[in-house]
Amino acid sequence: IDLATGLDLGLTWRNRFASLGEAFYTLLSPTPLPQPHWVGTSPAVADLLGLDRAWLESPDALNVFTGNAPVAGTQPLASVYSGHQFGHWAGQLGDGRAILLGEVDTASGPQEVQLKGAGLTPYSRMGDGRAVLRSSIREFLCSEAMHGLGIPTSRALCVTGSPAPVYRETVETAAVVTRVAPSFIRFGHFEHFSHGGLHGELRQLADFVIDRFYPACREAPGNPYAALLEAVSARTAVMVAQWQAVGFCHGVMNTDNMSILGLTIDYGPFQFLDAFNPAHICNHSDTGGRYAYIRQPNIAYWNLFALGQALLPLMDDQQQALDALEPYKALFPAEQQRRMGAKLGLASVQAGDTELVESLMQLMAKDAVDFTIFFRRLCGAVSGPLEPVRDLFLQREAFDAWALRWRERLHAQPGFDADATAAAMRQVNPRIVLRNHLGQGAIERAQNGDFSEVDRLVKALAFPFDEREGEDDLAAFPPDWASQIEISCSS
Ligand code: AMP
Ligand code: MG
Ligand code: MG
Repeated sequence: IDLATGLDLGLTWRNRFASLGEAFYTLLSPTPLPQPHWVGTSPAVADLLGLDRAWLESPDALNVFTGNAPVAGTQPLASVYSGHQFGHWAGQLGDGRAILLGEVDTASGPQEVQLKGAGLTPYSRMGDGRAVLRSSIREFLCSEAMHGLGIPTSRALCVTGSPAPVYRETVETAAVVTRVAPSFIRFGHFEHFSHGGLHGELRQLADFVIDRFYPACREAPGNPYAALLEAVSARTAVMVAQWQAVGFCHGVMNTDNMSILGLTIDYGPFQFLDAFNPAHICNHSDTGGRYAYIRQPNIAYWNLFALGQALLPLMDDQQQALDALEPYKALFPAEQQRRMGAKLGLASVQAGDTELVESLMQLMAKDAVDFTIFFRRLCGAVSGPLEPVRDLFLQREAFDAWALRWRERLHAQPGFDADATAAAMRQVNPRIVLRNHLGQGAIERAQNGDFSEVDRLVKALAFPFDEREGEDDLAAFPPDWASQIEISCSS
């Protein structure tokens, strides 16, 4: 494979995915967009890649990250994968609009750089290879918001826009998000080679992932691919437990949107809960509610099962895959309970805590209590007054009864320290999450050429646990119109 000639970004490109061979991808270049302009940048991701922050504001950078200028040392490609969408086998999908530039060696390990919305690929199917400004801003902001929350995720370096028209329900304009992750390999990559009977490539892919990201699986007793399945299950359990604990709904948990590294990827119709409703469906296209908030842990297991099925040709028998999946069933609830306990200020899990959390969730659901505001206010109620929390409920007596049990449980902790407990709670109960209406406000301004709110949000979302000046509006209740926002798969 020849390396591209073009701009020298001063980075060391290694492009190991390209070394897998042409069964895994098609080499191609991004399709340029006219008159590019900046929409937003994340200086923290520039630091991660080892890019100069000042250079990131240059016309060269604008061209590179719109796909208008080749980069020396890269091997741009679109990868092929398949997947299950909404529970049904969808056959071949692939990078229909994302182009992997290559992989950069950084101080903290390898990072792949991908341009999403960079034009047609052989996997575009009926699509146009583009992404609209609206969804690109949402992906950019949420990637950085999740990172700020400490949740495993792909990152976003920048968004650029172009006046080029993109046709969805209405005419919109094009944008490109530059995404960054150690790997964008999905469950669907494994399904692709397994279902296609390409077991040599399946093994090659699994070995690639093990060698680079899960080396311990090679040393584990027994089958290394079963060990991989178990390790991926563990990372997925941790990721989904973190989603549940901040009220994050992914919206499209198809197997092609599940990262083999347990990263949150492919931000589409995601939502952070406003009023708590366990049955909440954030994706307007998900009419059956398959991906409702409360179903995410089971759907993750369903997806892991599909991954296990894909890996079967590499295992001794089916039981090996089932055994590898089994730990998820205990690990997820344990992770979830630990994180929900921490939100309540509990340093460790005890018998009865599940019930304490469960009864709270029921009360919150009945009164449609704001998820983020409840937990943030609760931090202040460890030693302060309960009123601000109590005010969120209609059933005040039921809440009082719950709060009494909560405080008893809190105070019974050995060496209980109210201030330290409240401080610890403020590190797990965010003040600011990327609510739909906040994203919507930034999008509407950006559609009118004002990108200042995108910038303000990306800066605020990097520190979601801190009380920073001038950000009270971002921590407030959503306006009434927020519940009317409809986010679909259209992007
Ligand atoms: P998603 O549901 O966004 O994860 O996308 C599912 C599949 O559709 C992936 O293969 C995407 O690359 C592809 N896709 C989505 N939107 C487009 C588009 N506008 N053009 C080409 N392919 C697309
Ligand atoms: Mg090919
Ligand atoms: Mg996807």
